[in-house]
Amino acid sequence: MFGVVVCPRCKRARGADLEKKTTACDCGFEIRISLSRTGFETSDARELAAAVGRAQAELGGGAKAVEAAVRPKRRSRDAFARVIGDASRGDRRQRARRAAEGLAREFVLFTVEDWRQVAEALGIPDPNEALEDLARGNVVYQPRPGYYRTV
Ligand SMILES: [Zn+2]
Repeated sequence: MFGVVVCPRCKRARGADLEKKTTACDCGFEIRISLSRTGFETSDARELAAAVGRAQAELGGGAKAVEAAVRPKRRSRDAFARVIGDASRGDRRQRARRAAEGLAREFVLFTVEDWRQVAEALGIPDPNEALEDLARGNVVYQPRPGYYRTV
């Protein structure tokens, strides 16, 4: 299967073979597919090209939202408490998913630090692994290095 990934460095969309771990961007960056893929999948090369075009167009508009969100809003204690409260039910995987969704709801983009803070409170033992797992499961992606959002 092929999918669309977004380069964390230059933020261009490109097609990638989802069987592979990484793909090289034109800018020279080695993109980790699991962390950079969007939700799109296809086995059809023409569909893939169209999807890359659409993703690229959305990134034009999305870039502004990213810039605004990256100037971090103050992370209030209340916001973290809401995320943690909301994600405290279910098994580990469900808690991780709810936590990511909650962080995206509160902050739009969240950082690895935000994630760790919530994951620790929820007793998720390996925050990095849990985050990679969410990326592999298409729950989150990384629109720019170190920042995550839900798909
Ligand atoms: Zn690039």
